[in-house]
Amino acid sequence: MNAPNQSGWKPTSPVAGTADGANTVTGNKALMLEEPLIFEIGNCETTGVDLPEPDLSSNRLGGFVRDAEIGLPGLSEPEAVRHYTRLSRQNYAIDLGLFPLGSCTMKHNPRVNEKVARMPGFADVHPLQPVDTVQGALGVINELAQWLCKLTGMPGVAMTPKAGAHGELCGILCIRAALEAKGDAREVILVPESAHGTNPATAAFAGYRVENIPATAEGRVDLAALKARLGPDVAGVMITNPNTCGLFERDMKAISDAVHAAGGYVYCDGANFNAIVGRVRPGDLGVDAMHINLHKTFSTPHGGGGPGSGPVVLSEALCPYGPLPFSEFHADGTLTLVEEETAGERHPHSFGRMSAFHGQMGMFTRALAYILSHGADGLRQVAGDAVLNANYILRSLEDALDAPFGASGPCMHEALFSDKGFAEGMTTLDLAKGLIDEGYHPMTMYFPLVVHGAMLIEPTETESKAGLDQFIAALRSLAERARAGDETLKAAPIHAPRRRLDETLAARKPVLTWSEPEVAPGEPSLSEQGGS
Ligand SMILES: *Cc1c(COP(=O)(O)O)cnc(C)c1O
Repeated sequence: MNAPNQSGWKPTSPVAGTADGANTVTGNKALMLEEPLIFEIGNCETTGVDLPEPDLSSNRLGGFVRDAEIGLPGLSEPEAVRHYTRLSRQNYAIDLGLFPLGSCTMKHNPRVNEKVARMPGFADVHPLQPVDTVQGALGVINELAQWLCKLTGMPGVAMTPKAGAHGELCGILCIRAALEAKGDAREVILVPESAHGTNPATAAFAGYRVENIPATAEGRVDLAALKARLGPDVAGVMITNPNTCGLFERDMKAISDAVHAAGGYVYCDGANFNAIVGRVRPGDLGVDAMHINLHKTFSTPHGGGGPGSGPVVLSEALCPYGPLPFSEFHADGTLTLVEEETAGERHPHSFGRMSAFHGQMGMFTRALAYILSHGADGLRQVAGDAVLNANYILRSLEDALDAPFGASGPCMHEALFSDKGFAEGMTTLDLAKGLIDEGYHPMTMYFPLVVHGAMLIEPTETESKAGLDQFIAALRSLAERARAGDETLKAAPIHAPRRRLDETLAARKPVLTWSEPEVAPGEPSLSEQGGS
């Protein structure tokens, strides 16, 4: 670590150095500012607040009074504001530009949702408040639940699961409880090859053996292969519809009928509901359980790990086994909560509780605001526009990129391409890195696994035609460079603050804590150097 210079500035950035035409002294690139970790710029001796020394002469901490410095880096208020603002600018966000991640439905988050979620009556309630003081909040959960049931054609919904994968677990535990109630322990869950990774992971986590069902050449579940595998050991199937190849599973009703006839249940991964909301009701297709990602279809913000919300709609057959707590609506207009203590006689078959409280309240208010501001006709249009935008991308780029299922008919909400036709040595990764130079977050890549070098692009309905045209132009240019074997693409990104990183190492051996760098003997340690 370098010693501080006269002004207290120290080049902590790994890319700072000597200005030479390509680099700058500060490491900044025009208005893209480098920012060290707070531990590297903060200092234990400085602070942005001025508090009186606490009087610890009488306290109840016993032997737990801290006798050493806590060692937290302090910054003045402007320094703290700049630190976090600079960090925030290093994120790509849906508020900056098109976010083409397939299967993620990165749509615009309407500001009216945020306004509603911040209303004190919703934002300030506590989950342990007496039920008669939170009737409004329960009313929101109930009204949203009714919309979800209506949109899916299902009689019940479990609102507590906190993400898609959590919802999958909820659905599979309902299936297990229903089978156990019949004394019919089964061991196998069938999952198509193209499934999202969470599907087999969920089934395995719930104790099932996972078996793959192959896809047909046109990218859909092989119905004949599925039928051939059904039997008394199969608890159910987990099928994503629309599927991860961006196609609607046209045989869904036939699949459900066959699974039911064999005594199993049908789990539908509803993460892609955006493509069919207001047009198809999964209940009509024989689905027994399906999670809905409120953070995808109903525009609640996601990315960076959450928070999500994954309510699970349930069929007549699975409703009795759903998790607690749930709210019950009475003829006099009041709502009560059915919890563990009261559930006994009213809900004896519930598999139990999977969340401490009632789910993600902030996501419920946002999702309901989104639904009410769109109305039934607006939601229907959402699906139509999302599908139109994806098909516009698919057909605009078909001559530049290989579309493996382009001949299977129109796609749903996402367009799938492969690396077929790229010059020797050029990969999907190179194209994705080139997309960063063009100012876009890369698309989902190498998924689904059934397509070599897959690129899965989901524009969503909230992009304009002009925005799509610019994105298509960028992708077309990159595709041409990949086909031509343009070696400069191997170096991309060249305009980003960081170039190619060792992503495998970062994922496998993440460095999550900061430790003070070792200093050579005689040099002052960082905390002795004094901050900026
Ligand atoms: C996003 C997604 C999931 C998982 O949802 P999370 O909310 O991220 O847990 C499952 N299946 C598919 C197809 C998805 O796109």
